Amino acid sequence: MSDPNCIFCKIVSGEIPAKKLYEDAEVLAFHDIRPQAPVHFLVVPKTHVATLYDATPSHEAAFGRMLAIAGRLARESGAAEGFRTIVNTGPVGHQEVYHVHMHVLGGPEPLGPMLQRRKQ
Ligand code: 5GP
Ligand code: ZN
Repeated sequence: MSDPNCIFCKIVSGEIPAKKLYEDAEVLAFHDIRPQAPVHFLVVPKTHVATLYDATPSHEAAFGRMLAIAGRLARESGAAEGFRTIVNTGPVGHQEVYHVHMHVLGGPEPLGPMLQRRKQ
């Protein structure tokens, strides 16, 4: 359910503060501490699950809710013309926090290209 060493579990429990946008029984949304776009928030399942590799059918309700709430929260946060959702997984995906989270990035201006081309 919850991992005592996990920073996002601590945000879910309130042990670590965060600027919360939305909360229900399944998910919590809060602003990213290092925003990379004018709108940048994270949506997490309240239950601890480290990566998408660890997902099971028991997570479907929360993962569905994460997507289902993204548009409303993006619009309310100022991203009315579109946004990007990203779930980084594992070292290749540059996952930094091992509690599944969906980035929602947007703003008034179009974002850059989706993937930075790797330097050869
Ligand atoms: P990842 O690379 O794992 O997909 O991204 C993790 C994200 O979590 C980063 O964008 C980082 O800025 C954000 N983050 C890390 N620690 C905290 C924290 O304590 N509070 C908040 N609000 N965001 C955090
Ligand atoms: Zn966690």
